[in-house]
Amino acid sequence: MRVVSGMRPTGRLHLGHYFGVIRNWVQLQEEHECFFFIADWHALTTAYKNTKELRKNIIEVMIDWLALGLRPNKSVLFIQSLVKEHAELCLLFGMLTPKSWLELNPTYKDLKYNLLKLSDLEKDFKEKLRDKIENILNLIPFNIHNPDKFREHLLENLTETLIEALFEGEIEPEILKKLNVSKRDFYETDTFGFLGYPVLQTADILIYKGEAVPVGEDQLPHIEFSREIARRFNKLYGKVFPEPKALLTETPKIPGTDGRKMSKSYGNAVFFSDTKEEVERKVMKMFTDPQKLRKNDPGRPEICPVFAWHKLFTKEKELIDGIEIDCKAGKLGCVECKRLLLSHVEAFLEPIRERRRELEQRINEIEDIFYANSKRAREVAKSTMEEVKKAMNLP
Ligand code: SF4
Repeated sequence: MRVVSGMRPTGRLHLGHYFGVIRNWVQLQEEHECFFFIADWHALTTAYKNTKELRKNIIEVMIDWLALGLRPNKSVLFIQSLVKEHAELCLLFGMLTPKSWLELNPTYKDLKYNLLKLSDLEKDFKEKLRDKIENILNLIPFNIHNPDKFREHLLENLTETLIEALFEGEIEPEILKKLNVSKRDFYETDTFGFLGYPVLQTADILIYKGEAVPVGEDQLPHIEFSREIARRFNKLYGKVFPEPKALLTETPKIPGTDGRKMSKSYGNAVFFSDTKEEVERKVMKMFTDPQKLRKNDPGRPEICPVFAWHKLFTKEKELIDGIEIDCKAGKLGCVECKRLLLSHVEAFLEPIRERRRELEQRINEIEDIFYANSKRAREVAKSTMEEVKKAMNLP
């Protein structure tokens, strides 16, 4: 089976990238034909203004991928922008993609929603409309069977209609001011590239006739979008593309050191490029159960990020069970628990750090590997484009 997936080069990789994506890729490359790419064009869909760090970030990703076990002799590891056919196919798919499909894309809607702080406005509207709805109810010349249900239904629908009106661009400058949204910020982020990124994503997969894409449950709509485009193309011009399937993978979630989602922007991530001392500092400062102040206070491992990490880094099941029991019984202190965790995290990280150090000495050679792999990818992409052009009667 041919598997295709990509990763945006947003900087150094952390443990969240490994447990969420790379670990799975490393397994997939053992069993399938895999195309994994550094999605530098995708990075531009939101970060097009500042590209200073882009090249450096691409190199960081190359080093981390190789240090974490991706192998160029097992997978085709390449850079998206070196295979121009992605852009050519994206352009052609753009011709047959209805605009409404893009506007309904949940990620696009969420971003727009957040940018406009529409959830705050929604609350505001509901408050203001509540009184008005009472007036409307008083005017109705018949009895309503369930007035409470009717009231809620009316409120929901009126609010939704108002939000939709704003969403569709009927935004008065005073309203934007009230929402504390800069018109420039909003429209500069709301770009053609960002709206159209699912089309590029579809081209990324179908240019290799990808049959499977490893995703989490939240990304299923993206795969459905690619399937729709493949179907539409095949129906219009004859069968060229497979309909890619989602390869649903259960990836364990590793929380950040403060218990939130691990993210560079939250400052709660442990990076593969961190030194031993940096990792020690981060682990020893990790959040724990806030109710466990002293060693003999009973703890709640189920809400403690240190325990979540033990489940990933501590190999012996009996040891994990023992930590859970002792924490709950107030027999284990958090400092001791973190020290134990640190030794296991270090046992995992040290060989990777060592490989990184060695790879950092061979940057030119690594770049050559990715360039050569991009050529391999391009051969496949070119052959798909020949078929596409033939099917569409393009010269
Ligand atoms: S003893 Fe360990 S698992 Fe329990 S609260 Fe402290 S750090 Fe968390």
